[in-house]
Amino acid sequence: MDLADEMKCNVPAFSGNRVNLEKHVLKSLAEKEDFDSFITYITQPRTQLQTFIKEEVQKYIFTKQKDRALTILKKNVNDINKHVSQALFTATSKVQEKGGDINMWVEEFSSFLKEHLTLGTISCQNFGDIKEFSFLKEEIEKGLTSIMEEMSCISLEKMKDFRLQPDQILIDQLCKCCWVTCPFCAALCTNTLENHDPDDHNVPFHRSVAVNGVHYKNTKIMSIEFCTTEVASNRSFYPDEVSEKLIPFKKYRTAGPMFKKWEITPDGSKLPFWKWFVCQFQKQLEDHYDLKFEGNGQIPREWKSHTKAQAIESLDKM
Ligand SMILES: [Zn+2]
Ligand SMILES: [Zn+2]
Repeated sequence: MDLADEMKCNVPAFSGNRVNLEKHVLKSLAEKEDFDSFITYITQPRTQLQTFIKEEVQKYIFTKQKDRALTILKKNVNDINKHVSQALFTATSKVQEKGGDINMWVEEFSSFLKEHLTLGTISCQNFGDIKEFSFLKEEIEKGLTSIMEEMSCISLEKMKDFRLQPDQILIDQLCKCCWVTCPFCAALCTNTLENHDPDDHNVPFHRSVAVNGVHYKNTKIMSIEFCTTEVASNRSFYPDEVSEKLIPFKKYRTAGPMFKKWEITPDGSKLPFWKWFVCQFQKQLEDHYDLKFEGNGQIPREWKSHTKAQAIESLDKM
């Protein structure tokens, strides 16, 4: 078992799909009350999720499970040693048995290793004038011993030089899904397939569109509505900054390609997390978007009643 697998079992953020990962990212950002990272999450969700994976892997390897991580790493090094020694033995005896040449030896050696390790093609150029396979075997064994001596002092810091790092493995596994965001609130589609045509994009919980800086046209007034309430209303919207044509929310799919493939189910679901978020970062959101929560965009009194703990707890419904 490698480190990435081990973390998938032991780190709750890594033991599910991307929605689960997202939930842990939001929890961690809320705990830290880190507005700037929230903005990165809203505008570039993939970047923020990858940063989170990298930070958690660092924490796991260098603090929480340092000894365990080192044990796995050393075991992997020993396995490599074992495979190379076996390949040396197998290739040499096969070639001696069949009276083969150096090309056959290299062929046998690499095909044995390929079953166990990922490696590039071994070049025969430097072996051209070698006739004695037992000599070659000895030379390689000598080399291997010195490599193994070096590897036995391997440290976790050195792991950074490895080709496939555990954080990259986790990123590849957890980030393989749809990344399309809701045109109103910027929530991520939760489909686990990267391309799920002809199925529409979907997310169980939309947000207050204030999260995405949506405002009333030609004003500095923030809209605080949730997309799920808007699409049930008789109100209308402008699909973008320059558009002069109002589209009824009930016909939002006709507003353009960004809207066409989204299935936004009209309902009253409002995750307390986003109410808390808007209240908690009211000032920062106003400054960031250069907008105001006033008039139609005034924050309802009820929203302010949610504590941070309740907000975080509500994420479990995601
Ligand atoms: Zn939405
Ligand atoms: Zn999607």
